[in-house]
Amino acid sequence: MSKMIKFRMIIENIIQIGNPILRNKNELIKNVKDPEVLKTVENLVDTMRSFGMVGTAAPQIGVNLKIFITEIRKTEYRKAKDVDELRIFINPKIIWKSKKEVVIYEGCSSVSHSDFFGPVKRSEKVKIVALNEKGEKIKLKASGLLARVIQHEYDHLVGIEFVEKICDFKKIMAKSEYLKMVEKSK
Ligand SMILES: [Zn+2]
Repeated sequence: MSKMIKFRMIIENIIQIGNPILRNKNELIKNVKDPEVLKTVENLVDTMRSFGMVGTAAPQIGVNLKIFITEIRKTEYRKAKDVDELRIFINPKIIWKSKKEVVIYEGCSSVSHSDFFGPVKRSEKVKIVALNEKGEKIKLKASGLLARVIQHEYDHLVGIEFVEKICDFKKIMAKSEYLKMVEKSK
């Protein structure tokens, strides 16, 4: 029952582009054990899974803290070619990006509730350092969809939306058309 109430609350709280919260400065976490941090992580996980997302950043649920999460899995929008466990990134810093870039379609629950998708060019691989939810330092080299999602979520923490990085505006697709493309490529 309490789960139901929480679920509804989160649906109403996905911050949409144009809201200044997405552009605010996001604060570094001083104490990972702070209950607000744990609550934010839990809400991020629930929100991400409820909306079929493979990553979510704290400002998207109205919290201006440097936290994002990823969970690469099969969703309405993605095939399950790359699968990766749930990862929590607190105070993340991308310390290296590959010179090689790739173009992948992206959407975002903060942009009209993932109602359209566009091609974005980003590094194929990245190295990132962060703290996990236990406060342990993690260092990760990522490629494929995980590297893509890390860069998209990381941008949220510095107030950048993927729409600013669309590399070919003629290739933007409505969700219905994008899903047809995903279906065909299966
Ligand atoms: Zn996003």
